[in-house]
Amino acid sequence: MARFAENNWRMEQNYGFNSTLEIDAEKLQFMWGKVRTGMRSEIGEVAYKNWVQPLTLLQLNNTSVQMSAPNRAIRDWVLSRYGDRLRKLWVEQCPMIKAIEIIINNAEPAEKKKPFSVVGGKDITSHKPEIENISDLMAISAPLDTRYTFENFIVGKPNELAFAAARRVAESEKVPFNPLFLYGGVGLGKTHLMHAIAWHITKKSPGKKVLYLSAEKFMYQFIRALRQRDTVAFKDLFRSVDVLMIDDVQFIGGKESTQEEFFHTFNALVDQNRQVIISADKSPSDLEGLEERMRSRLGWGLVVDIHPTDIELRINILTAKADQLKVKIPQDVLEFLAHKITSNVRELEGALNRLVAHSTLVGREINLPNTQELLRDLLRSADRKITIDEIQRRVAEHFNIRLTDMHSPRRARVVARPRQVAMYLAKQLTQRSLPEIGRKFGGRDHTTVMHAVRKIDDLCIGDSAFSQEVDLLRKMLEQ
Ligand code: ADP
Ligand code: MG
Repeated sequence: MARFAENNWRMEQNYGFNSTLEIDAEKLQFMWGKVRTGMRSEIGEVAYKNWVQPLTLLQLNNTSVQMSAPNRAIRDWVLSRYGDRLRKLWVEQCPMIKAIEIIINNAEPAEKKKPFSVVGGKDITSHKPEIENISDLMAISAPLDTRYTFENFIVGKPNELAFAAARRVAESEKVPFNPLFLYGGVGLGKTHLMHAIAWHITKKSPGKKVLYLSAEKFMYQFIRALRQRDTVAFKDLFRSVDVLMIDDVQFIGGKESTQEEFFHTFNALVDQNRQVIISADKSPSDLEGLEERMRSRLGWGLVVDIHPTDIELRINILTAKADQLKVKIPQDVLEFLAHKITSNVRELEGALNRLVAHSTLVGREINLPNTQELLRDLLRSADRKITIDEIQRRVAEHFNIRLTDMHSPRRARVVARPRQVAMYLAKQLTQRSLPEIGRKFGGRDHTTVMHAVRKIDDLCIGDSAFSQEVDLLRKMLEQ
């Protein structure tokens, strides 16, 4: 790959060593800095702080870089979600690195660790677990973003109902509706509202056990419990919480045993009058791969949708975010952004952050021409979104296989390899998650997609002709 070679060259220029020589600790730290900067720009500030910042560099062991994580949850999450990127960034820094390794470092003093999650209103990393369960809860509850509060949520027509429902659930002494089912497209504030509910409840009632996690994580935990023959503990754990929040429940579709377990957990909690809050990208009736009884059960409480933003809400959000960042942005720039970036709030925020970061770094004034120039690529991609269908079609054409082979169970190399390439490109060029991609490829498992991504990465590293072919496909799709 061109970029790869360039990096290699740059490394030799800058540090005077090539990939076969020893790397001393200082150089390794330097690279670690670069890797972290790369991760931060790829996964965003929040994810970076939650997951990458807690990692510590240990050593280079032959061709494997060893890092440590303060607990198992962080290690597992980083490896499953960001392992590929992390490895890639390391390889970019130094091609002799072939693998990454993360060990759990239990020795780190508690006060040095970041708050990891909130259970029962306490920062559990700085407290000794009171009951054994708590440490398990800690391991599975995802961290809450401190900025995702009700105060920081800007209300407008498209989200006022969802906001009101979330507040009601957070403030009520009794369970007002069960479940609360929030749905809407990506980046419209579902996760933000769920975190806001969790913050509010844990602050108001510190004794309550609030468990927030993604459906993917729920699935993962359940499968792990099955594997370890420990489902009783799993059931006890989930059924002991006061408030259960499961984010992005669309990922449970199609997974029968997990769905079954989710259904029972859900029923048990609702029966005991514990609050359940669910989010998804579609309404219960539109969720694919879900059993009928589950679908109807999910709709029993209050189902509210968050609509796509309107121009007024976008301007208000931008104004509020600019205030938070303590920068003055001219009104015409705010309006330009609000008109151009209509897809979702996350992208709107991303554009604003980039603008602000750029102006602080290079001291350039924020005005309309500079904004247009700086955000050119972002605006282009806002105009055009690559879909998985398109990727499948292009890749099938390119390798001369049938489009249906993208979905078929056939495993012959002639179709399997192009399919892997398509999965790889889907991961790189779209915002889709691994399970979503898997489903688009004939209902394959997310681990299959993960494997495909790794495989293609490896092939690209070892085979420059293949790598050029993949690059070409990418360019064709990005046009
Ligand atoms: P979803 O879970 O629906 O995909 P998120 O809750 O992750 O979306 O929101 C994406 C980003 O946009 C977050 O940083 C969130 O804080 C921000 N955001 C979304 N809606 C609003 C809003 N109404 N006011 C302020 N920030 C918002
Ligand atoms: Mg979300």
